[in-house]
Amino acid sequence: MKDKIAVYPGTFDPITNGHLNIIERAAKTFDILYISVLNNSSKKPLFSLTERMELIKEATDHLPNVLVESSAGLLVDYAKEKSAHAVIRGLRAVSDFEYELQIAAMNRTLDPELETFFMMTSPNYSFLSSSIVREVASYGGNVTELVPAVVDRALKAKYHKE
Ligand code: ADP
Repeated sequence: MKDKIAVYPGTFDPITNGHLNIIERAAKTFDILYISVLNNSSKKPLFSLTERMELIKEATDHLPNVLVESSAGLLVDYAKEKSAHAVIRGLRAVSDFEYELQIAAMNRTLDPELETFFMMTSPNYSFLSSSIVREVASYGGNVTELVPAVVDRALKAKYHKE
């Protein structure tokens, strides 16, 4: 039987326990899950592309069918290249809905064969975002419960709080 291959795209600046929750659940459903870290030139990330990828690799070390890559072009092209027929997106509050619907509709227009799967976040993480983690950490706040241990250490190092 053909492998079920999915792509989970995002900026992951940095990966949080909310992302990890989606990744762990999606990795049970799909044979191969590509985490596609966007090299988005319009956003100025705190962590470089290499750092973001390294943090995800360490945080997903226990998941053998999860592969971390980067991508800069159109998601539909990347998915085709990987023979993936599914895109995973996480949904938090209603606020995510409109934006996600717009992207999913555009991707469907570009490639009707590529299906978008939305996964509801676990309730503990519904208000968790990379941006709020960055902000709290920048003021020396404790984010230990919200991010993988490797990210917690990287944030402390970035903000010279170690
Ligand atoms: P983007 O820049 O594409 O929004 P993010 O790294 O912020 O990239 O998010 C990637 C995906 O992960 C998106 O589908 C987003 O909705 C989802 N996501 C972000 N935070 C959480 C969370 N706490 N719980 C579940 N999904 C999340």
